[in-house]
Amino acid sequence: SHKSSAQIRQEFLEFFEEKQHLQVPSAPVAPKDDPTLLFTNAGMNQFKPIFLGEQPGYKKDGETWKRAVDSQRCIRVSGKHNDLEEVGRDTYHHTLFEMLGNWSFGDYFKREAIRWAWELLVDRWELDPDRLYATVFEGDEDDGLPVDQESIDLWKEETNIAEDHILKFDKTDNFWEMGETGPCGPCSEVHVDLRPDEERAQKRGAELVNMDDPKVMEIWNLVFIQFNRQPDGSLEKLPAQHVDTGMGFERMCAVLQGKRSNYDTDLFEPLLDKIGSLAEVTYGEDEQTDIAMRVIADHIRAVSFSVADGVSPGNDGRGYVVRRILRRAIRYGWDQLNLKEPFFHRLVPVLAKQFSDVFPVLIQQQEYVENVVRAEEESFLNTLGQGIQLFEEMAENKDHITGEEAFKLHDTYGFPIDLTQLMARERGLEVDVEGFRARMKEQKERARAAGKFNVDQSSQKEWITVTDSDEFEFTGYDECSTEAHIK
Ligand code: ATP
Ligand code: MG
Ligand code: MG
Ligand code: MG
Repeated sequence: SHKSSAQIRQEFLEFFEEKQHLQVPSAPVAPKDDPTLLFTNAGMNQFKPIFLGEQPGYKKDGETWKRAVDSQRCIRVSGKHNDLEEVGRDTYHHTLFEMLGNWSFGDYFKREAIRWAWELLVDRWELDPDRLYATVFEGDEDDGLPVDQESIDLWKEETNIAEDHILKFDKTDNFWEMGETGPCGPCSEVHVDLRPDEERAQKRGAELVNMDDPKVMEIWNLVFIQFNRQPDGSLEKLPAQHVDTGMGFERMCAVLQGKRSNYDTDLFEPLLDKIGSLAEVTYGEDEQTDIAMRVIADHIRAVSFSVADGVSPGNDGRGYVVRRILRRAIRYGWDQLNLKEPFFHRLVPVLAKQFSDVFPVLIQQQEYVENVVRAEEESFLNTLGQGIQLFEEMAENKDHITGEEAFKLHDTYGFPIDLTQLMARERGLEVDVEGFRARMKEQKERARAAGKFNVDQSSQKEWITVTDSDEFEFTGYDECSTEAHIK
């Protein structure tokens, strides 16, 4: 019998507690004082002031800790780390996931980080070393950084990994950065190869680490934080060297529970069961149905924790991201699972119960979260059917959706542009996003002009509302992490 996810999380935390780490709580998914970040995208976010040297360590009860361990809820749907397109289509990228991490704040460095990672994976959790690969940073000319020879040597000294399982990669994989600016450094990752022996014999080494196969997954990233990326792109050396690690908890559960997919673990089973009973379908019988079920099971987690952490669906910034995730899930339910009545909020209690010990913020506000989600899905469902019908007409005998059409879907039926893009892609169509943006801009300018013109009239309050929502400027997920979009 396999370990439960709760046990796995606990074992990670205890392993590092044994090594004098303080267990600390997860920060909310919406960072409080960091305008460079739309959502918490890694465990290290809450420790940024420590890395930057603004604080000496983690403070608790008058004591300053140099080592910490936790499970951080992260959301990766915007900015530098945006996984939304993969979610549901693959089986190991989520919008919201737990990142298990251990930290050294100017205390231990590469040697202990590598030794302990191996000790946990191989000695405690008994993973087969022959299935593990370690990657290291090969250096970068533009940044003036050499190959991370130290890490290569340490993998050889501190572990029994085979030499040809140590692989060098460039900065896209092995130099971790939180965003466009901020703490960063070279990293060393652990990947696991779960393919059957015959397949493993055929392809080994470097080529398999980035291959698109769910059986070869990155499970842990050990980041050696030494620099602060400046707005001009240069690297400034930090006053101290730190360790920042991130393990994909859902992936680790899949590995340790012998599953092929994160969705087959006890983390997603209760949600998939509930979706199955609401839609009267069974998971695992049809790929299209399965994708929809995975998307819904995934998205309810991001939406619920966002709302519980204070971000409700809205028209700008974080709120609009949450709205888009929710609408994406509702559309999948409508389209693939024939769910035409509000259903999404009914998953909240399942999730709240599941996380009552880990992230109690949800069960504490369960009713509130259910109500917010319900109101939001009701309002979208009111127009969704008509919008889909209009989309079908637009898509008939065409090779693309015009900017005007995308704007109409947005303006009248509440279709976020990425939803229109998703639906278009499903039919092999393009969307004129530029044209869409131009129309959004025109609308904004009209609203602004109207707002100015009407300041003295009695309808002022309405105009203020219009001017407010006008602060929202759609620039796509990837540009959403800039300061201007956060109120
Ligand atoms: P990948 O290459 O698989 O997208 P990453 O290199 O972007 O992962 P890191 O920034 O190194 O991820 O984050 C640390 C760990 O968090 C990864 O090793 C992985 O196990 C996990 N992880 C990253 N993104 C996701 C996600 N979207 N869903 C679930 N786990 C994730
Ligand atoms: Mg990634
Ligand atoms: Mg990676
Ligand atoms: Mg990584």
